[in-house]
Amino acid sequence: MVDNMPEKRDYYEVLGLSRGSSKEEIRKAYRSLARKYHPDKNPDDPDAESRFKELSEAFAILSDDDERRKYDTFGHNSPGGSPFGPGGFQGVNISIDDLFGGDLGGIFSQFFRSSSSNRRVKGSDLMVRHSVPFQSAMDGCEEEIEIEALRTCEECEGEGSADSSSVRQCPGCDGRGRIERVERIGPFTQRVVSDCPSCDGEGRIIQNPCTSCGGAGRSNQTKKVRFSVPPGVSSGVRLRMRGHGEASRISGGESGDLYIEIDVGSHDWFERDGSDLLMALPIGFADLLLGTSVKIPHIDGDEIKVKIPAGSNPGDTISIPGRGLPRQGSRSRGEVSVVLKLDIPSRVSRADKKRISEMYDVLGTNEDNIQEKIRDEAYRRRNSRAR
Ligand SMILES: [Zn+2]
Ligand SMILES: [Zn+2]
Repeated sequence: MVDNMPEKRDYYEVLGLSRGSSKEEIRKAYRSLARKYHPDKNPDDPDAESRFKELSEAFAILSDDDERRKYDTFGHNSPGGSPFGPGGFQGVNISIDDLFGGDLGGIFSQFFRSSSSNRRVKGSDLMVRHSVPFQSAMDGCEEEIEIEALRTCEECEGEGSADSSSVRQCPGCDGRGRIERVERIGPFTQRVVSDCPSCDGEGRIIQNPCTSCGGAGRSNQTKKVRFSVPPGVSSGVRLRMRGHGEASRISGGESGDLYIEIDVGSHDWFERDGSDLLMALPIGFADLLLGTSVKIPHIDGDEIKVKIPAGSNPGDTISIPGRGLPRQGSRSRGEVSVVLKLDIPSRVSRADKKRISEMYDVLGTNEDNIQEKIRDEAYRRRNSRAR
């Protein structure tokens, strides 16, 4: 999850301190570094500002007993996350003169942590799994599913009210739906914005709720969703259907998305490696020895013709380019890869056994030159792997 993010530096390292540093040392280190990297002093250096924020965040945490203890125990992976939210320290208005003053705790006016309310306005995303037959990986397909989800109530059109005249503005938040409160973290005051508890972030109070949805503005509804599965699809691919998730909790808010995770069924004989198709083909000894050609029905509608050269060995692979699955985002197709297997008849009559044993002259036995044969086989195997 954090793979793409730059590694967050250790707070002590940021301030050039060791773990056991005293509060006074932390304060001194911060004051001197903050003066050096203050954006006013480095107007042409964009790095100074991020350095300054980094310093201020480190100081905010390490100068607060609770936050420092948590940091010492868990590092940056504290349960509940950073008190500054996932975006980290967003910035403070500190004038350069403040850094010379005596009380550092007083200099930070406030900074903002945006609450998660914006995300909650959008309806929840949903995910369903959907199986398609193997053939869809070749041709793609048009599918239709029914899903039950919280949707905008049709009776009140999401208003939640039986009649529009009975909707009042929430007195708790003056209709804004959000309230601000001030929290202290160490010497800093920060303003936290959150949903108004009186109206649950809606900004209004319904006096005469809609009977169909009980005032929620949403109700469980079953809807059909049509979608196209692209050729070349593989299991685990998620198709995103914008706006087909849950309706927003708030009237007029954006609906969530529906994700459809595709599960491609198996084929009777093909295994799949991306757009390549792999199969094993059992061939009798005589055909391997003399060579032959085999026709197999194929999922693209045409037969596949596998030409087996004389003197083929079990384990040899025959590639048929351009007959595999479509490659996504391209017009080309993968290959069909056929591994030859030796097909030994399960039952051989006594008479046939006699006839075969009479052919030892032609077929040979392993009693002669056994070491040489083993060596040749190893050589062949290593060379074919190197290719
Ligand atoms: Zn309110
Ligand atoms: Zn309703």
